[in-house]
Amino acid sequence: MKEPDINKMAEHYAAILQEIGADVQSDGMRETPLRAAKALVEMTEGSRMGTDRLTTMFKAECQTAVCHDMVIVEGIKEVGLCEHHLLPIIMSITIGYVPDKKILGLSKLARIAGYFARRLQNQERTAHSIATFIEQILEPLGVAVLIDGKHLCAMARGVRDTHSIMKVNVMHGTFQKDPNVRNEF
Ligand code: ZN
Repeated sequence: MKEPDINKMAEHYAAILQEIGADVQSDGMRETPLRAAKALVEMTEGSRMGTDRLTTMFKAECQTAVCHDMVIVEGIKEVGLCEHHLLPIIMSITIGYVPDKKILGLSKLARIAGYFARRLQNQERTAHSIATFIEQILEPLGVAVLIDGKHLCAMARGVRDTHSIMKVNVMHGTFQKDPNVRNEF
């Protein structure tokens, strides 16, 4: 995928800021359009990775499983941007899977979460994308992804709901079929 043109983005940011009455020539804001452009690029970098590239990358990292014990990585912190308002969603992501023939290191699972979080997104799609990707890479007996998200678009605007946390829970395979597995998770 083509890399974004930072300078062009900065020009557009400057125009938007002028429209709301900001002085983009002031000392504090002179670099703001460029900074904002770089921040947006960084916060959406996951979307320019491409699933094929990620698949190749992570398939090479897999190791052989020696048992079928459930693996859980809890509390992966990631920040994505909601596709409706372009405001941050602060997420805590938990991934669980029951290996069949392959396993993946814990830090790799956190990296996968990062690639799917750093996009323009909604929380449900992020959870589904992570679960589907892990299924593809590891072919596990089951996978579960749970995301707790704080949505700044709900906290800072509209209803200004500063407390609620949105929970999304995706369960595939044995997590869906077997209540014991689900409870263990
Ligand atoms: Zn939103």
